Amino acid sequence: MFNSLSDRLTTTFKNLRGKGRLTEADVDATVREIRRALLDADVAVPVVRAFTASVKERALGLEVSQALNPGQQVVKIVNEELVGILGGETRRLRLAKNPPTVIMLAGLQGAGKTTLAGKLSKHLKSQGHSPLLVAADLQRPNAVKQLQVNGERAGVPVYAPHPGVSSEFESATGDPVAVARQGIEEARTKLHDVVIVDTAGRLGVDAELMQQAADIRAAINPDEVLFVIDAMIGQDAVNTAQAFNEGVNFTGVVLTKLDGDARGGAALSVASVTGKPIMFASTGEALTDFEVFHPDRMASRILD
Ligand code: GDP
Repeated sequence: MFNSLSDRLTTTFKNLRGKGRLTEADVDATVREIRRALLDADVAVPVVRAFTASVKERALGLEVSQALNPGQQVVKIVNEELVGILGGETRRLRLAKNPPTVIMLAGLQGAGKTTLAGKLSKHLKSQGHSPLLVAADLQRPNAVKQLQVNGERAGVPVYAPHPGVSSEFESATGDPVAVARQGIEEARTKLHDVVIVDTAGRLGVDAELMQQAADIRAAINPDEVLFVIDAMIGQDAVNTAQAFNEGVNFTGVVLTKLDGDARGGAALSVASVTGKPIMFASTGEALTDFEVFHPDRMASRILD
């Protein structure tokens, strides 16, 4: 999805690579091209501004290097800055000292939470964990069923409210906070070491949705709150991410639909604006279209 950004930056750097000396004009021209390429890729304006200012400052302050010519050094700086805004080091899931580890998913409707729940549970299972999925999205009529289908595909059990099974379960029907809480109890009883709680999303950020997500967070005290965001939403990514960050104080980001023709701006903006790391990426509808997100590899992909 970064093809056009990648092409633009490669062209920009082509001239620079051979240069033995860099003038301030060379640096200015390069930074201008980088700015245009990032804006065209839908990266949020404040992020572009901070990024280019930092590249410019470092490029002008370059020490003479034996190993790299100035052009190569600028490419190296851009690479390091890209890795930085993509979150720096690969951030692994924090596992609870006393299982179960609780992972809550939040995001807009259609972002890909339910699909991600299946993928993440399969990934964890392949690493030797015994996950349980919890269907606390009671807003969308089909969400529970969809999670059950995804769980079945992944070979992972799903805890869902079953009206009539017992009075305890009955009381949970319709109350996502109670379902989430009981799902975690179920994991304790059945010795699952990871619980993934799917929550409701709406088409736009709204106060009621955010309150519900915040209530679930407060009730289950998760080890990770993953904000799932569709990479295709472009410039809207920043506002949505900020609203969810304020509402549920998420701990990490999952980018979905990286297989689409998004221009990549969301990926670069969200981590930078919220200061939260991108942890996973979803690259298609199949359960296996899932990757652990590595900032350094993503930066190389953009610059290669
Ligand atoms: P939720 O409302 O956040 O739970 O979103 P869903 O998991 O239901 O996903 C919404 C739609 O996006 C579904 O049709 C999914 O198959 C699709 N989807 C989810 N993740 C991806 C992805 O990474 N790539 C593509 N192409 N489609 C995806």
